[in-house]
Amino acid sequence: MTMIKIEDALNRIMKEVKILGVETKDLISSLNYILGEDIYSKDILPPFNKSAMDGYAIKSEDTNNTLTLEIKGIIKAGGYYEGELRSGEAFKIMTGAPLPSGADAVIEIEKVKVEGNKLVLEDAVEKGNHVIKKGEEINMGDLALSKGKEIRPAEIGFLASLGYSNIKVYKAPTIALLITGDELIDIDKALEKGKIRNSNEYSLTALVGAVGAKSLSLGIIEDEKDILKEKMKYAFEHADMVISSGGASVGDYDFVEDILKEIGANIHFTKVSIKPGKPVTFATYKEKLFFGLPGNPLSLITTFETFVKPSILKMMGKDSFCSKEISVILGDNFKVKKGRTKYVYVNIKKEDEGYVAYELGSQCSNHLMTLSKANGIIIIPEDIEIAQKGEVFNGRYLFE
Ligand code: AMP
Ligand code: MG
Repeated sequence: MTMIKIEDALNRIMKEVKILGVETKDLISSLNYILGEDIYSKDILPPFNKSAMDGYAIKSEDTNNTLTLEIKGIIKAGGYYEGELRSGEAFKIMTGAPLPSGADAVIEIEKVKVEGNKLVLEDAVEKGNHVIKKGEEINMGDLALSKGKEIRPAEIGFLASLGYSNIKVYKAPTIALLITGDELIDIDKALEKGKIRNSNEYSLTALVGAVGAKSLSLGIIEDEKDILKEKMKYAFEHADMVISSGGASVGDYDFVEDILKEIGANIHFTKVSIKPGKPVTFATYKEKLFFGLPGNPLSLITTFETFVKPSILKMMGKDSFCSKEISVILGDNFKVKKGRTKYVYVNIKKEDEGYVAYELGSQCSNHLMTLSKANGIIIIPEDIEIAQKGEVFNGRYLFE
C-alpha cells in the first residue's frame, strides 16, 4: 500500500468514526465528558432577591429624604424575615440572605456608621444596589446547557446549582491494547540479554486515560501469528477500538497486517508520511476501529496524538478534535531528513517576538528522553531538509 499524507490519513479516519451513544453518569464522574442531553432549569435561580454583600437592607427612596434609619433586626444567610420593611427602617443582612419584602437595596457595612439602633449613611443609595434579583440567573423551564457542551468544573458547579445529580453524557470508548514483541519484559523485571522493558503499554494506558477513555490491556503478546490473531479477535469482541503496539512494519515477525487481512478487516492505510511514525495502520472491522501503531516508543506516542486521540474525542461527542497549531519561530537551526512531514520535539518559549522553538537533541524514535524534556513540536514540511534559525513553522504544545 502507498504512503499517504497526514491530512489524508486523518480524513479517512474521521469518515469512519461514529459517536458512541449516551449513558447516565453521576455528576462528579461526568467531568470532561460531553453533555448528551439538553438541560433545563427546574427552578427559578436565585429563588429570591438576595443580598450580594454583608450590609443593611433598606428602601432606596428613603435615602432621598434622610440618611438615618432605624435598625429593626438581622437576617442571616439561610434565614428570612416574614414581615415587611417599612419606611425609615433597615435590616442588617448577610451575603446570600433574602431581602425582606419592601427592601430594594443593600448598603455595605463598610459605608455606614451604627449608633445604637440607628444606621447612619453617607449618601443616598440607588435602587437595586448590591441586590441579586430573583430569576436573574435563570428561570424555570429555560435552557441551561445544550447537548454537546463539554463538562468542565464550571458546568459541574452549575449543574449542581440546578439540582442535577445525574446527567446523560456521550460514552467513552473502551480501548483494547495489544502489546506485541518477544523482546519485551515487564517493567519491574531486571533486564536480560536482548530484552527491553515494555514501556508502550504504560504510555498507551496513560494516553488513553488522559483523553478520558477506558483501556483494556491484554498484556504482552508474543510475536506468534496465531496467538496474536486470537488476542485480536478477543479485543474486537470486548472493545470499541483496538490499538496494537509494534509488529506493524515489514519485518519477519510483523503480523498485524496479515492478520487484519485474514479476519476480513477493511484496511484503509498502512503507511503515513510522518516522522516519527511511518508504519501506522488504520483498519475497520465490524464498525470498530483498529490502529496498528509502530513499536518505537516515540513513534507510538506521536501517532497516538496525531491519529488516535482525535478519533477518541469524536467518539465521545467532542467537536474539536485536533490540538491548536501556532506559528513558531526557530530559535536554533534544525537539520532533518527529506521525505516525510517531520514532527520535531522542541522546547517552545513565549518571548517578546512570539513563540520560539529550541532544539533538545536526538529525535531517535526509539527513545523518550528528548520527549520528556519537550513541551512542544514544530512541524517541518516534507521537502525541507534544513530549517534555519529565524524561520517560522507551524507548531503546537504537547498533550493539549
Ligand atoms: P516494531 O514496531 O515491533 O518493529 O518495534 C520497533 C521498535 O520498538 C523496536 O526497537 C522494539 O524493540 C521497540 N518496541 C516495541 N514494542 C515496545 C514496547 N512495548 N515498549 C518499548 N519498546 C518497544
Ligand atoms: Mg516487534
